[in-house]
Amino acid sequence: MSVMYKSTRSEGKKVTASQAILKGLADDGGLFVPDAIPALTVPYKTLAGLSYQETAYEVMRLYLDDFTEEELKSCIKKAYDEKFDTDEIAPLSKKDGVYYLELFHGKTIAFKDMALSILPHLMTTAAGKNGVSNEIVILTATSGDTGKAALAGFADVPGTRIIVFYPKDGVSPIQEKQMLTQKGDNTAVIGIRGNFDDAQNGVKEMFHSRELAERMAAKGYQFSSANSINIGRLVPQIVYYVYAYGQLLRRGEIEEGETINVVVPTGNFGNILAAYYARNMGLPIGRLYCASNENKVLYDFFRTGRYDRKREFILTSSPSMDILISSNLERLIYRIAGEDADRTRELMEALSSRGEYEITPEMRQQLDCFEGGFATEEETAETIRRIYEKTGYIMDTHTAVAASVCAKQADTAVKTVIASTASPYKFTRSVMEAIDKGACEGRSDFELVDELNRISGVPVPAAIEEIRSAPVLHDTVCDRDGMQREVERLLGL
Ligand SMILES: *Cc1c(COP(=O)(O)O)cnc(C)c1O
Repeated sequence: MSVMYKSTRSEGKKVTASQAILKGLADDGGLFVPDAIPALTVPYKTLAGLSYQETAYEVMRLYLDDFTEEELKSCIKKAYDEKFDTDEIAPLSKKDGVYYLELFHGKTIAFKDMALSILPHLMTTAAGKNGVSNEIVILTATSGDTGKAALAGFADVPGTRIIVFYPKDGVSPIQEKQMLTQKGDNTAVIGIRGNFDDAQNGVKEMFHSRELAERMAAKGYQFSSANSINIGRLVPQIVYYVYAYGQLLRRGEIEEGETINVVVPTGNFGNILAAYYARNMGLPIGRLYCASNENKVLYDFFRTGRYDRKREFILTSSPSMDILISSNLERLIYRIAGEDADRTRELMEALSSRGEYEITPEMRQQLDCFEGGFATEEETAETIRRIYEKTGYIMDTHTAVAASVCAKQADTAVKTVIASTASPYKFTRSVMEAIDKGACEGRSDFELVDELNRISGVPVPAAIEEIRSAPVLHDTVCDRDGMQREVERLLGL
């Protein structure tokens, strides 16, 4: 039986997996979802013996079934190679009775690499399959992390170009340096004099401009999106939950079929949605703890059934989770609405026009396996310090939000996996301040990197070493109104 993809917002025509990856978003503005969630068929004994790449194939083939075995294996091989600093790709580290699933061993030391390492290959393969000979141009607006992970993923991938816009004064110095030193003949990074919303709106306007699309096509280009709503990002994220289960079996930490719980530090709801898909495929996951920072829209939603974005936006030490609209939640809403596209569209329209919506009691009942939690800034810092003092293990701020929720709420009788989404080196200052604030005063970020290295004994990742000395390769800055001109210039339109 083949899996086709449909929109969450109307009963339109279904598309194949490769078409859904190429399009990114459905024409009606909805998100693509599989018309049936496939069941995991690999026996536990086999699962325990599979490598990351083999697990990836067993999971992804079920969703991307218009890719041939050869195509999919080739994408997996190109993605999960020595770009990762460990053969395990996503190692599981047991500390203080819980398992940290480390998703930060890729090029940019954050979990976005897990999907963005493979998306470019899925996309060029999808283009080939659908007779698209245009060069794919990825346009992205970033507030920091996604931009670098997308650049690193698409750099020098034949048949693609990537152009990233970021707010010139709105990202951290390390984040900016990471992007401006990006190599690759097909990469461009442009700072804009404006904020993230300006960058995002500018990109959206270009995406929706017919006139621009026609001029691009005349020169052999078309746009696509590396945004986290692309199904080509969701499916690769299911893999590591299945892999984690296999690793627990292999090490004898659990019995075959034993239920585990997961705790996921959440922003856009992509990572935890992947865990929910894994659960629906039959992986024995009991509870899904959705951990938020002080921007606790999701915590309130799971507690009350009301999603309300009308609140103050709080800047926290876990910036990749500073989000008030969790786009991927739409896929969960669609499912608990009984796959009712009209209902889903109404709720999403209410969110954009009124800033809130409320689900019915029947819908809420289906959220039983989810539990929301949140951590304050103090709790996050305290968790980093406590686990470090107890075990010597140092985690980043995002992971610490999850670890804090886990310590407060999780059922300790059940083995629990915490998704660890970034290396502590990515957020060195916040991490070091959590451990000893006084010792950080007057010291530069790189001095703190060396100190983190000294106290943790964990080698400084290449991603950090590189930017100490790497030359700046991009220096374009433009106004909000000049974004399209820059794209035209880069593509020679
Ligand atoms: C993106 C990100 C998250 C949030 O993941 P979602 O899939 O958006 O919920 C958490 N931690 C880090 C470090 C991230 O980069």
